Amino acid sequence: MAKNIKKQDERKSNIPTEQETTKENTLYYEEGMTVQDVADGFEVAVTEVIKKLMGLGVMASKTQSIDRETIELLALEFEYTVADKQVTDVTRFDEIKIDEDEEDLEERPPVVTIMGHVDHGKTTLLDTIRNTTVTAGEAGGITQHIGAYQVIKNGKKITFIDTPGHAAFTEMRARGAKATDITILMVAADDGVMPQTIEAIDHAKAAEVPIIVAVNKIDMPGANTERVMQQLSEYNLLSEDWGGDTIFCNISALTGEGVENLLEMIQLTAEIEQFKANPNRLASGIVIESELDKGRGPVATLLVKNGTLKVGDILVAGDTYGKVRAMEDETGETLETVPPSKAAEITGLHEVPLAGDSFMVFEDEKQARQVSEKRTHRTWQDEKGVNQAVTLDALFDSFKDEDLKELRIIIKGDTHGSIEALKASLEKIEVEGTTIDVIRASVGTISETDVTLAYASGAIIIGFNVRPNAAVRDTAKEKGVDIRLYNIIYKALEEIKMALTGMLDPIFEEVVTGEAEVRDIFKVSKLGTIGGCYVTNGVINRDSLVRVLRDGVVVFEGEMASLKRFKDDVKSVREGFECGIRIDKFNDIKVGDVIEASIEKEIPRQ
Ligand code: GDP
Repeated sequence: MAKNIKKQDERKSNIPTEQETTKENTLYYEEGMTVQDVADGFEVAVTEVIKKLMGLGVMASKTQSIDRETIELLALEFEYTVADKQVTDVTRFDEIKIDEDEEDLEERPPVVTIMGHVDHGKTTLLDTIRNTTVTAGEAGGITQHIGAYQVIKNGKKITFIDTPGHAAFTEMRARGAKATDITILMVAADDGVMPQTIEAIDHAKAAEVPIIVAVNKIDMPGANTERVMQQLSEYNLLSEDWGGDTIFCNISALTGEGVENLLEMIQLTAEIEQFKANPNRLASGIVIESELDKGRGPVATLLVKNGTLKVGDILVAGDTYGKVRAMEDETGETLETVPPSKAAEITGLHEVPLAGDSFMVFEDEKQARQVSEKRTHRTWQDEKGVNQAVTLDALFDSFKDEDLKELRIIIKGDTHGSIEALKASLEKIEVEGTTIDVIRASVGTISETDVTLAYASGAIIIGFNVRPNAAVRDTAKEKGVDIRLYNIIYKALEEIKMALTGMLDPIFEEVVTGEAEVRDIFKVSKLGTIGGCYVTNGVINRDSLVRVLRDGVVVFEGEMASLKRFKDDVKSVREGFECGIRIDKFNDIKVGDVIEASIEKEIPRQ
């Protein structure tokens, strides 16, 4: 396949051209098409279509809609091909279905997922296959870096996706992405069909992926392959021996018996299904894994489904985008190009996409950025109200049903020194069975991007001497992202430690009630400086704690000395009104400062 890859500029774009969306003698199918629409598509009189329909035994008027199957039958009569209506909106690139010309298509390796009940031998089989076949990179014995690998059998490649459990597969399918071509359904012969076996069957069937049954552990004394066949027949998986059309392979993943045959059956299925792709197009495919790497930034394993991916390509993955900086295969080998059905780990994205996200290469960086921005906005709207975030208060409870107790933290602070000190101390916290992962630590105020990252990765945000503005606070609240603000390191460490041990007593929490902007300064010799302020949101109370923010950085924290409307002392001033604020022991107010007012409020434990 690789030999046919043309120069970069010869790879076709992923954005369907006018020509590609309006091929001759092609009817572009859309759901709900009426007889009239179909006639227009065929460029014939509607009566002709109605007549043909009658011939097929279908009575329909011109305004009635007809199903795709019937349209396909009609198309045969009118010598048309039926194709899906093309999506041309690039912000919905994951829905674009490129209608490749047959002559551009080349055979590609099948992508295989192994599913089945826990302990039925999935991991063992993947290990055995990897160790007994030549891996596509080098020969044998290589530590695998990414959740996919390729093996060569009879000179042909097979790609295995090796992401833990069904989660990835289920997730991907739930999100409409189809990574797999063939499913291996593993059933241990000594255990038989179990709940997760049935789940796996449901997923494979719903995804319309061919299933090959691997009856495992045939070396075990209690192995009963007939029983497995019997049980699976109840789910319409009837063995060829019994007159059905499902391939059953008896194997021992442990000893390797039957594994060669299983690989041959995979290749046989691939031959029948004829998996093809066009390598001479810009790549598109699916994110199968992703993480934020401390050194390398966002890292994603991409499975190329169509086209060829190259270093330097600009792509949108899910809602994020970037330029491919480097690519590696499962053996850690550096790659320049990645052909269809191959997975590679890439760096260069701006943020971490989600497993199951689609990706597509764009020619134009600006367009990619715009698409990414639009998609981020849309996802955000969709997710409003859905709270899957982590909070310190509920941390211990959420730990209870997880094996790996990890607290992810984003640190924002006023100086490099303070965030480094905080990060180092946090990472030193030792609470048995837990780990702390600081996924981002940088100087600056807490931004929307921080909140988005925290939300996507289930992290909390710690602000050290910095404060989020009202908009960021609202976003965090909407998404349920926990922002904790400190100005003393030990206080932060203490709270985190307590949260990890489940001993946190969040008795008091500071609640910001309002903000005022300093628009004028009055120096009064006996009193000090008074800020002529405008309340931009909420309410400012006379007994508030106040914080003076300059460009998002806390410059002073303390109490209010006086709050006045014109000449009168007042208890509170609401949004939209002006007031004079004097701060106890602080005379350095400047125009443009923001005065944040808060109160201490008792918060009941959740
Ligand atoms: P998974 O949860 O489906 O990934 O299952 P594993 O691959 O972790 O296997 C679970 C257990 O079954 C392990 O102890 C394996 O060594 C064992 N096992 C897997 N395949 C076989 C097999 O073919 N024969 C025998 N005797 N044991 C097996």
